Amino acid sequence: MTEVETLAKNHNWNLPTKCSVCGADLVINANHKELKCSNEFCKSRYMGRISKWTDTLKIKEFGLTTIEKMIDNNIFKTIPDLYKIDYAKIASMDGFGEKSAAKMKSELDSHKEATLAEFIAGFNITDCGENIIQNVIDGKGFNTLDAFLNAKANDFIMDGLKEKTADKLYNGLQALKEDMLETVKFVKIKEVKKVEGGSLGGQSFCFTGPAQRKRSELWEIVEKNGGVVHESCKKDTNFLVMADKNSTSSKAEKARKNGTTMLSEEEFIGMCEIL
Ligand SMILES: [Zn+2]
Repeated sequence: MTEVETLAKNHNWNLPTKCSVCGADLVINANHKELKCSNEFCKSRYMGRISKWTDTLKIKEFGLTTIEKMIDNNIFKTIPDLYKIDYAKIASMDGFGEKSAAKMKSELDSHKEATLAEFIAGFNITDCGENIIQNVIDGKGFNTLDAFLNAKANDFIMDGLKEKTADKLYNGLQALKEDMLETVKFVKIKEVKKVEGGSLGGQSFCFTGPAQRKRSELWEIVEKNGGVVHESCKKDTNFLVMADKNSTSSKAEKARKNGTTMLSEEEFIGMCEIL
């Protein structure tokens, strides 16, 4: 019996146990939140990987339906394929046309930078999200892609990263090594300069809703000043920056309840030494 079948049986959960696309066994991640196909060559896996990558790099225009159509039409399948797209082919596809092709190109071309943690996590290795990768970078000093690719599974073991996850990370990196090395020819891994102290030192910031500055710009300002970005507002987020800081939206109310301080964009900028 597979782990998923055992879980379903023991807890009386109504879980699918086979992939609906290819029929292979499904596997479940460590926090039991995500089921995925065990067949590395299943279309669902390619779709999941492209989707994770475009989400991580904030590349728009790549919804799951679009991704599926592109895979079916042999436009791309792997992440490096995204950087070698034949746009004329997309322009001639039913339901797409030149405008969509141009939009996709401009989205891909304008998001060609990622931090090392984003880059590796963007390849969607099970249980190895951005936080885990960042912990390895900080805790082990692995601050290049090569350092990750050349490491042994045991090298990843540390506080908060047990053998099982270390194995998943190692196996995932080995399986995706060629794709990563090809992708890095097109996508720049940007350096994150850790600011010791800084005017936002030790504080975490989350941004929501529209703002004067681009989201990526705001995040960069946080990092430059020694703060930490929370992509979503968590219990321990210190500041939530939004256009209307008196908002009564559920997001705002929840944040206040957790003791998060609400800031306007200008108040936030006022706290930063380096812009
Ligand atoms: Zn499958």
